Amino acid sequence: MDTTLRISSARTGSSFVASIEKISGQKLLACYQCGKCSAGCPMAAHMDVLPNQIIRMAQLGMQKQLLAARSIWMCVSCLTCNSRCPKDIKIAEVIEALRRTALRAGQRDDHLKIMELTPEARSVLPPIAMISAMRKLTS
Ligand code: SF4
Ligand code: SF4
Repeated sequence: MDTTLRISSARTGSSFVASIEKISGQKLLACYQCGKCSAGCPMAAHMDVLPNQIIRMAQLGMQKQLLAARSIWMCVSCLTCNSRCPKDIKIAEVIEALRRTALRAGQRDDHLKIMELTPEARSVLPPIAMISAMRKLTS
């Protein structure tokens, strides 16, 4: 009899895990925690949960903690993590899926309001940064 413990999103019974896998198109359980994604992330120093930890927590269905994490909003979608992953997991897409889930759940309503930025901020912020932020917060 095969007594090997096989873990799959179906076995965890977590609709959250299945949902994140469906939205992102990624197989979370392929991650074996090598840490290369976090090692190359330019925003890691500003994150409360590192990219490899995000994947681990997603595997475990830690919905509440992940949707409250600052990291999912700190990610700048540079895709460095995607290019470094030896398992071809697109971590950035997983993080995007988490943002979408948080937005759909109504957990975030702080969409970027351009006119509420100071004139000084508007004059120095590159337009692409504002467009990126608006996309991130309204997907
Ligand atoms: S690089 Fe890939 S396999 Fe390694 S910890 Fe990150 S997601 Fe997991
Ligand atoms: S896409 Fe996000 S998580 Fe990945 S390396 Fe860039 S900032 Fe970090």
